[in-house]
Amino acid sequence: MVRSSLAGTGTGLMSWTRRIGITMRDVLLPPRCLACGVLVQADSGVCAQCWSTLTWIGEPFCPRCALPFDVDTGTTAVCASCLRSPPPYGRARSALVYDTAARPLVLGLKQGDRTDFAPALARWMAHAGADILATADALVPVPLHPRRRFHRRFNQAGLLAAHVAQVVGRRVWPDVLCRTRACIAQSSLPRQRREANVKGAFRVDDRKSSRLAGRRVVLIDDVLTTGATAAECGRSLLDAGVAAVDVLTLARTAMTQA
Ligand SMILES: [Zn+2]
Ligand SMILES: [Zn+2]
Repeated sequence: MVRSSLAGTGTGLMSWTRRIGITMRDVLLPPRCLACGVLVQADSGVCAQCWSTLTWIGEPFCPRCALPFDVDTGTTAVCASCLRSPPPYGRARSALVYDTAARPLVLGLKQGDRTDFAPALARWMAHAGADILATADALVPVPLHPRRRFHRRFNQAGLLAAHVAQVVGRRVWPDVLCRTRACIAQSSLPRQRREANVKGAFRVDDRKSSRLAGRRVVLIDDVLTTGATAAECGRSLLDAGVAAVDVLTLARTAMTQA
């Protein structure tokens, strides 16, 4: 009884401290729209105008890869691409369509060092991926090659994973997947060359593989385009004994996967 009361007091104190910290931060650095910079309400991420320009992914979509459907058929049928070539991962979810409105947010985080975008983007991802996160044991970010990570100084997938994990109360395993070689940036390649580009580019760290057996993991990345990277990572994790791999990205292309 005493212990639970003390624990409650501790939690209350932490909550108050956190709230005071957030209020101080908002007074000193008032939150601004990630896209256009106008002042916004705390935690909203973008202003109402920019919110309306973003294409949010909601049902109906393909239950395997989250490709938005134009028409709700009222069934659980998958898209033509998933039917033709089922991905090795179970379910993919994304918050946004990767279009001209979403691109500055993705590139701002990845190439513009706007790590301050991560908390809001992660909240959107947590919302979009609520069903796959509910069954997850841990989150695994898509790794960068050490050389690219050195130049960029952070892995955007790792940063998003850390913030999503904080929102949903899950563990992050940032170091179970490794890049075995540097690849040409997928975004610079035509769709048909992307699968070969990442073939065999990932492996599970042998020293970490014991923790994976029978676990359900959610792979985290910023963008899903052809799904080649997610598929390759998914295969490596499944080969290492993971029970199921789902995928959560901030954005995905609205086109059918190659
Ligand atoms: Zn705005
Ligand atoms: Zn699909």
